[in-house]
Amino acid sequence: MHELGICDAMLKMVRGIMKDEELTEISRITVEVGSLSGVMPNFLADCWVAVADGTELEHTEFVIEELAGTAQCMDCGEEFTADLNDLSCPNCRGKKLVPLTGKDLTLKEILAP
Ligand SMILES: [Zn+2]
Repeated sequence: MHELGICDAMLKMVRGIMKDEELTEISRITVEVGSLSGVMPNFLADCWVAVADGTELEHTEFVIEELAGTAQCMDCGEEFTADLNDLSCPNCRGKKLVPLTGKDLTLKEILAP
């Protein structure tokens, strides 16, 4: 499972930051998920609960911010917000699209109490 691996990596990353910053507690973690990243936010939240269970981050609030991705049409060059339910160019209805933004998952903020 892709999401589980991501959460595991994030847990390690957050722990590394906690160690570096000498933090014992984190009250909130915010991650930004691009709509074209292939990551399902609901599933990501479930996986976080699974990996954080029993750790010092068990009670940390986990916030997911969804970022709408943009794509460009290879046929006419139109740039637009990608709608995952209708992946075609709004200008020419072309299907040859290149993702521009929204492909990433970013650990945006770690809030210490
Ligand atoms: Zn087009």
